[in-house]
Amino acid sequence: MPANNFAPLRRKLLRWYDAQRRDLPWRRTRDPYAIWISETMLQQTQVATVIPYYERFMKAFPTPALLAQAPLKKVLTLWSGLGYYRRAENLQRAAETIAREHGGELPNRYDALRALPGVGDYTAGALMSIAFDQRYPAVDGNVRRVLSRLFALTDEKTLRSQAATLVPHHHPGDFNQALMELGATVCAPSAPSCAACPFEQCCASRRNPSAVSIPGTKKHLHQTRVAWPLAIVWRNGKILLRRRPKDRLLAGMWELPGGELKKRETLQQALGAELRTIDCHNATPRKIGTLRHAITHRNIHAPVFLVTLADHKEIRLPSSNWRWVAPASLHRYPTSSMTAKALKIFTAHEKASL
Ligand code: SF4
Repeated sequence: MPANNFAPLRRKLLRWYDAQRRDLPWRRTRDPYAIWISETMLQQTQVATVIPYYERFMKAFPTPALLAQAPLKKVLTLWSGLGYYRRAENLQRAAETIAREHGGELPNRYDALRALPGVGDYTAGALMSIAFDQRYPAVDGNVRRVLSRLFALTDEKTLRSQAATLVPHHHPGDFNQALMELGATVCAPSAPSCAACPFEQCCASRRNPSAVSIPGTKKHLHQTRVAWPLAIVWRNGKILLRRRPKDRLLAGMWELPGGELKKRETLQQALGAELRTIDCHNATPRKIGTLRHAITHRNIHAPVFLVTLADHKEIRLPSSNWRWVAPASLHRYPTSSMTAKALKIFTAHEKASL
């Protein structure tokens, strides 16, 4: 489709967006910092999940300077449960750069945004168009799906070039958000609601669905099934947590004792090894539930065991990276998503036992 035919498409989409857009907290502001936080949280994460995290985060760190000065533990605590914790670490590193090199304001140049830790092509394009009203495309998974179906595009290069041409000079941010919104709410991956789509009359996929394969999508990502027993060690009204080492993934986060089952290791052996670390391997673990957790190509199956110790039992913790924490204080500790899920199982178990 020639570029001069795009005007009706843009009009249709913007009209649809005016009528259908969801009222989301980050759409009520033009603050580039707030838009950046929301765009980062929305990567790989559903809107409904992000809203309370965004509101708490913006309340705690309303400016890049306050985010830059905050202890990492506080940043990670507010991110707990949102997953992909590298995003939170990068946000803080980027906030430090913004405070140091850009006078505390997000830069309004694409290359300067792109140079910030954690900011890729998509986020830089979204910020340039939504926050700074500049004509840049922002191609996320939703936009990729809509454009590949609309124009029957099968390669990434053509899709990106088409996305760049399609963005209008006026209201580029609204236009990009409209495409994302259409992908998120109408042009769904498996069953698009074409009857509700403003492109229904001109969409290539609507005319010939089998002709379209979406570029850049990984169709059959091999998932490895992993067993990962977790122990809730309970003594004197407190739960035992340990902090992840500095040189490992999720460094600084707190987690329950446990870990990936090694080859030919049984659940009992794995748990026994964990409990030996704190000299309570004679305790009897009791299974109270199982959780499932997916991380990129790993499908984790985690049985959760309760290990109740006598209140008077003396435990020598291996280092200050281990701590007894009362349930009411858990919210002050940044925990991995898997630990958060296991703690929910424990809370439900305790309620049921009352
Ligand atoms: Fe997607 Fe259907 Fe709209 Fe085409 S008509 S863009 S397939 S929702």
